[in-house]
Amino acid sequence: MIREGKYMPESGCRWITAEQEKKLRIAVEHTCELCHDYYPASRLEIHYISRHRYEEMKRDPSARILMVCPFCHDHIHRLPLPVRNQRMLVKGRSFFTRRDMRRILGYQPAPYQAPDDIDLYVIYEEYFRHCPPGLYRLSG
Ligand SMILES: [Zn+2]
Ligand SMILES: [Zn+2]
Repeated sequence: MIREGKYMPESGCRWITAEQEKKLRIAVEHTCELCHDYYPASRLEIHYISRHRYEEMKRDPSARILMVCPFCHDHIHRLPLPVRNQRMLVKGRSFFTRRDMRRILGYQPAPYQAPDDIDLYVIYEEYFRHCPPGLYRLSG
């Protein structure tokens, strides 16, 4: 995975596995959700949208992320692009993209647990413990 940015996006707050990330890129057909350009070969990055409403997040993890190219990702953090606008991009997703992303994010990375035992609530509790609100990082 190549990181060329001048900042480390969301470092320490990644709750998506590398395997899921790969699948998410396919789910959006390797197309940046912001500029809609085609970025093959693992160029798309995950942007984690700042927490807005806990309840909403619990219901739909796919609403918490954007798949963007390195340039748009840089943009989002530098402007920064308001969360409101980021969420509009999420809402604009096609039915199929949303469905695929939800399916992918429903996977339980721990292999010793049966799929029926997946408890998303626990996963997000864990996430919040490590990542308090206000995740914008404009660091250089
Ligand atoms: Zn882009
Ligand atoms: Zn980001």
